[in-house]
Amino acid sequence: MIDGSPFWLLIFSLSGLGLIAGSFLGLVSVRLPAGQDFVAGRSRCGSCSRTLAPRDLVPLLSYALAKGRCRLCGARISLRYPAMELGCAALAAWAAILQPTPLAAILTALLGWQLLLIAVVDAEHFWLPDALTLPLLASGLAASALLDAPGLADSLIGAIIGFASLWSLAWAYRRLRGRDGLGGGDPWLFAAIGAWTGWIGLPSVLLWAAAAGLSVVLATQLGRRKLTASSRLPFGVFLAIGGWFTWNYGPLGF
Ligand SMILES: [Zn+2]
Repeated sequence: MIDGSPFWLLIFSLSGLGLIAGSFLGLVSVRLPAGQDFVAGRSRCGSCSRTLAPRDLVPLLSYALAKGRCRLCGARISLRYPAMELGCAALAAWAAILQPTPLAAILTALLGWQLLLIAVVDAEHFWLPDALTLPLLASGLAASALLDAPGLADSLIGAIIGFASLWSLAWAYRRLRGRDGLGGGDPWLFAAIGAWTGWIGLPSVLLWAAAAGLSVVLATQLGRRKLTASSRLPFGVFLAIGGWFTWNYGPLGF
């Protein structure tokens, strides 16, 4: 944690960046699974295709002022946009509060934003696109080198062990049960998280992921919705949660 007014300045500016990042990532979370271009295409209303003007693109404010509706056709605008904006801002503030230097806080916010996008896409589509996991892997190696923590060698080993462990688990499951137990993207996501946390963090990532997964199972049981052995859970969401906690709070002590 940083002391004094630079601390507040960092929280404020990084959260502001988070609002903007969340606004973009909300769009990506819709357009990427739909196979649409999300880099070049202008933002449009999903209902009447009106191109959005700058005044429609102010995070949170535009949504609140237009009461969640398109100004032209009145169609309801998905809550995902303000939710993603708030989520990215909250992750950025979390990073700024926890991390010891501005650089570490910025990189941590970048991690959080990527993990949130990956979790949303996996939760909605049971899909972990390479277009998201591979940049997460590359940025993990870069962050590790820039911060000298956990260190590039530990990160490379983390990526390799992360990939190999889930890949062989998926292979064994397929051999034993004759169906896929893990999605094809899970080994890449675990590899990418291993690049951030280093190999020493991988067991903690799985423990956090298991705890998160178990809470969801218990919550659904309480809600009397039955989960069977063939029910699908978006494992990537739990891995993302595990990655975030392990990166921020360090590997659990053994
Ligand atoms: Zn419209």
